[in-house]
Amino acid sequence: MTFKCRQCGACCRIKNGIVRVNEAEISRIAKYLGFSDDDFIATETEVAPDRKGLILKSRPDGSCVYLTEDNLCMIHAVKPDKCATFPYEWTNPDSNEVCPGLSI
Ligand code: SF4
Ligand code: SF4
Repeated sequence: MTFKCRQCGACCRIKNGIVRVNEAEISRIAKYLGFSDDDFIATETEVAPDRKGLILKSRPDGSCVYLTEDNLCMIHAVKPDKCATFPYEWTNPDSNEVCPGLSI
């Protein structure tokens, strides 16, 4: 696979995309942001559409609440594994359409 990230942020603003967070991810992000785990869950997450676990919140336009205007991730140091491993260990069928870094 040839890949070079163009820092476009497209992968963080997929309209119906979700980012699930497990217990370990919740704890590390909460700690990084200065929340207790419970407060982080209450204010920064919501129940997944399939009701199986929690996801990070999105803005009305579909972008992740942690995406900055400069297309940076506010929680880069502790971001969920799915985000950290895209597109190497984690992708989905439409990744090539979403990510211009994969089509160079
Ligand atoms: S946590 Fe960071 S890398 Fe993951 S979707 Fe949100 S802004 Fe993007
Ligand atoms: S969509 Fe691809 S090129 Fe754009 S920021 Fe995400 S990984 Fe990088």
